[in-house]
Amino acid sequence: MIDESDAEQQARIKQAEIDTAWTNRESPIPTVLRRREWLAYHLRRQNDLCFYCAVKMEAGALLTRPTLDHCIPRSRGGEDSRENTVAACILCNIAKGDMMPDEVRSLLPVARVRVLNRLDKRAEWRRDRPRRL
Ligand SMILES: [Zn+2]
Repeated sequence: MIDESDAEQQARIKQAEIDTAWTNRESPIPTVLRRREWLAYHLRRQNDLCFYCAVKMEAGALLTRPTLDHCIPRSRGGEDSRENTVAACILCNIAKGDMMPDEVRSLLPVARVRVLNRLDKRAEWRRDRPRRL
């Protein structure tokens, strides 16, 4: 006959072993932190200039906020590594989307101008609205 308390004790010891192994496991650096380090590295190397349009990037700025861009998009097999990333302003990053580096060269300036035009129009629209007092 199985001794209930023994079985419970065994289970508790087993669980304690699992917990210990979990606590002592080699904890990998979270991806978010790793990417933040890569971005800081690229910003230093690129002198805070966007890799694509060379605008001076500013943390917290709406249009020139620095972002980490995957040169070869991850959706197209690019790896998530420091070597496959550059610092790019938010506009270039959005405009680039999942284009490959060679596709970007010709299309990016046009895309960027388009985005900027759209933002300008929105700004005009806002200016033209009657102000509430
Ligand atoms: Zn840019």
